[in-house]
Amino acid sequence: MQLFRQIKHLKAWLKSMRAQGATIGLVPTMGALHDGHLSLVENARKENNAVVTSIFVNPLQFNNSEDLHKYPNTFEEDIALLESRGNDVVFAPERDGLYPTKTRLVLNFDNLEHTMEGQFRPGHFNGVGIVVAKLLNIVQPDSAYFGQKDLQQFAVVQRLVNDLSFDVQLRCIPTVREPDGLALSSRNRRLSISDRNEATIFYASLKRGEELIKQGMKVETVRQEVKDFFKKSKAELEYFELIDTWTLQKIDGIKGKKSVALCIAGYLGAVRLIDNVIIHNEY
Ligand code: AMP
Repeated sequence: MQLFRQIKHLKAWLKSMRAQGATIGLVPTMGALHDGHLSLVENARKENNAVVTSIFVNPLQFNNSEDLHKYPNTFEEDIALLESRGNDVVFAPERDGLYPTKTRLVLNFDNLEHTMEGQFRPGHFNGVGIVVAKLLNIVQPDSAYFGQKDLQQFAVVQRLVNDLSFDVQLRCIPTVREPDGLALSSRNRRLSISDRNEATIFYASLKRGEELIKQGMKVETVRQEVKDFFKKSKAELEYFELIDTWTLQKIDGIKGKKSVALCIAGYLGAVRLIDNVIIHNEY
C-alpha cells in the first residue's frame, strides 16, 4: 500500500494505473477508521481494480471548533487497518495542500441543506460539498463510496455530482452497527463507558419508531413517545424526523411513499450522534 501526501504524486500513480486500464474506487474519510469505513473499502475493493482511501479532517465542514479540535487521530492504526483490507493507496494531504488559498466558494444545496443536520450545523454541507468536489476532481474515480449513516450527506453529494456533471458512480453502503445496534462512528470513542451504554437509545428509538410508523401512527405521536423515552436517559434529543429519502423533506406518514427514512440526532454529554433507518414501503 502506498501513502501520498501530495496531489502530484497521487496523480502520477493514477495516471500509470489508468494507462493499464484499471478502474479506481474512492473512499473519502476523516480517519479514526472503524468497520463502517472498512465496509466501504471492501465494497470498493470488489467493484474496482484499485482503491484510494482519503484521510483528511476537513476543517471547512466543522461548525464547532471544539469538535474539530477533539476529532480523534489514529493515523498509524488507520494505515494498518487499510493495509490489512487490501486498500491500494492512502491519500492524506496536508491542509495547505488541499486548500492552498482560503476558498471563497459557496455551494447552494437548497432544500437539502435546510433540514435536519443543516439546521443544527450551519455551513456544514458547504464544507462537505467543497471537499468532496476537490477529491472527485483530483482522483476522478469510476466509483465513490459513502455510508448510509450520513444519509443527508449522500443526498447532498448526489446533487453535487449532478449539478457539476462529475462522471462518477455513487454508492451508498449500509450502516455497520455494534451488536447492540449502536451505529459505528469515530465519535463513539469519545463516549464515557456509561454514555456508551446509554447510546443504544438512538437505534432503539429508530426501531420502535419504524414499528409504530408501519402501524400507521403519525410521526408527531411517535416523536412524543421518543421524547418521553429520552427524558428517562442522559441523552438529549435534537431531532427525530420522518423524511422522503429522495427529497429529504419532512413527511407525516408513509402512505403513498416508496422509500422513507427515520432520522435521529442528539447528544450524549458533548458528543453529538446521528443515525437513521430506511423504511421501504411495501404497500
Ligand atoms: P467520516 O470519516 O465520519 O467522514 O466517514 C467517512 C465515510 O464513512 C462516510 O461516507 C460515512 O457515511 C461512512 N461511515 C461512517 N460510519 C459508518 C458506519 N457505521 N457504517 C457505514 N459507513 C459509515
